[in-house]
Amino acid sequence: MKQKNILISTCLLGNPVRYNGTGKRIQHPLITKWQSENRLIPVCPELAGGLSTPRAAAEIWQYDGNDVINGHARVINNEGKDVTDPFLLGAQKALAIAIEKHCAFAILTERSPSCGSHFIYDGSFTGNTVKGMGVTSALLEKNGIQVFNQHQLEEIDGLL
Ligand code: SF4
Repeated sequence: MKQKNILISTCLLGNPVRYNGTGKRIQHPLITKWQSENRLIPVCPELAGGLSTPRAAAEIWQYDGNDVINGHARVINNEGKDVTDPFLLGAQKALAIAIEKHCAFAILTERSPSCGSHFIYDGSFTGNTVKGMGVTSALLEKNGIQVFNQHQLEEIDGLL
């Protein structure tokens, strides 16, 4: 049986790919263990979708990633530009990588408009969050890949 791999947000490995040119490294013994087992498959959906670092911050206005996928919501950056298309393309590319690399789970960065899995910013650029998923998390979950955030590593360990 093939090893179950784990898709992971590139920024969680410390790579400076976030909108503001920073990373968001998590240091945890399980990350070290999974790296040594070659289980971690890094992806940054926003870069995969054609955006670059640094980039304007973006948020989903009022709704969540499921609504973006269904065409009922848009992703807008803080300069007022509609960036829905690169977000959707990045989500599709992340899904394709997850399938190709046999990822059963994903660890994605909470609150991101791409990678959030429980909470996202509410679209007002005021730091407020609401319950909801980012665009990539929503697409992965729709396709049977369970998404966790960076604070749920032990839960995944129990499922491998
Ligand atoms: S899109 Fe995801 S992986 Fe890329 S910087 Fe944002 S949170 Fe990190």
